[in-house]
Amino acid sequence: MGEQMAKVEMGAATDAGTLFPILGSRPSGIARLAAESAVAESGHEVEFRTMEPRSLLNRVVSQRQMYFTWSINPYRGCEFGCRYCYARYTHEFLDKSDPELFEREIYIKQHAAWLLRQELRQVRPDEYIALGTATDPYQPIERRAQVTRSLLEVFAEQSGLRLGIVTKSTLVERDTDLLAEIARRNRLTVHVTITTPDAALARVLEPRAPRPDLRFRTVERLRAAGLRTGILCSPLMPGITDTPRALEAMARRARKADASFFAAQPLFLKPCSRPVFLRFIQEHFPELEQAYATRYRERAFVSKAYQERVATLVRAVVRKHGLEARYGEVPGRGPQPVWPVQGELWTAAEMRGRPGPMQVRVPAEAAAGAQAEGLFSGPQPMQTGCGEARRCV
Ligand code: SF4
Repeated sequence: MGEQMAKVEMGAATDAGTLFPILGSRPSGIARLAAESAVAESGHEVEFRTMEPRSLLNRVVSQRQMYFTWSINPYRGCEFGCRYCYARYTHEFLDKSDPELFEREIYIKQHAAWLLRQELRQVRPDEYIALGTATDPYQPIERRAQVTRSLLEVFAEQSGLRLGIVTKSTLVERDTDLLAEIARRNRLTVHVTITTPDAALARVLEPRAPRPDLRFRTVERLRAAGLRTGILCSPLMPGITDTPRALEAMARRARKADASFFAAQPLFLKPCSRPVFLRFIQEHFPELEQAYATRYRERAFVSKAYQERVATLVRAVVRKHGLEARYGEVPGRGPQPVWPVQGELWTAAEMRGRPGPMQVRVPAEAAAGAQAEGLFSGPQPMQTGCGEARRCV
């Protein structure tokens, strides 16, 4: 499809005008681009707008150690609407302070392939490019807009690059031909995020993303096509999906899907994602509300000790199921596992005897693991179904 504009017909509407232009300050930079954008399409809950960015490749400036040098986000915003999504802050640059707008107002970047072709000249062969760090490149609008596919067509012309794609979507299978072409002359890794095998939990946690079993099937299919494809089980949510048994179950499924690697990291809550996620906890896991509110009030990240325990646990299940680690660590090295009791984030005393029924159906594995560790007291009366702040352009 090449370098043409995204294949979404633009409507004539624009909200660039203002009733009293002399009053108030005009937005500048990326906020101005957003204000001048045209409505491309609107659905029941989501509005799509076009955006003409000045650049596409974004050099990562985070102080945290990142494994990639460049990021590319074909869209701004993401319809999947994961309750923990850290990328909501990217809409703040558009003067959109309501974090829910991130999933209801999606910007489609225009001329993306053309920009990429110009900007790839500045990438050195050893530098890693990550596609989809602050949006899902295969969210539903990609089926028609095909911005991601246009970028892959550019990558397919290159050689010697290191490229990683992160997605929760089965739509990535559509591009298997291009991905295989890219992998022939470049180092390509596809990361499929699956946070839980429980479809009911996934439905409320990642409301508009494909079911977990479909994502496992995507991993299988990409692997069958010879593509390096691994599973990211991130974020691990304390008290919900971070138990040894839950991780064990995920690693077993990863093995069955022939995943190239398995990785998981603890939840972090930046200010933009905290209110959304805490509302989710309040609604579906009310007995955890206080502990989450307290532990994430002062800081976005869990303690070092907890992170190390989770890393040890992940290494253990990776080794046990003969998987690889994400960055090529050798399974079997590192300290022996010490099964975490939620680190210092959740003490047994905090969790024991917690009154009140669960509002959601906790994943069986997670509940079993939690009970085994004494995190919840007694049988659970279950009532109803249920990678990182990064700059981007
Ligand atoms: S798929 Fe990724 S970018 Fe999209 S809402 Fe979920 S976490 Fe955010």
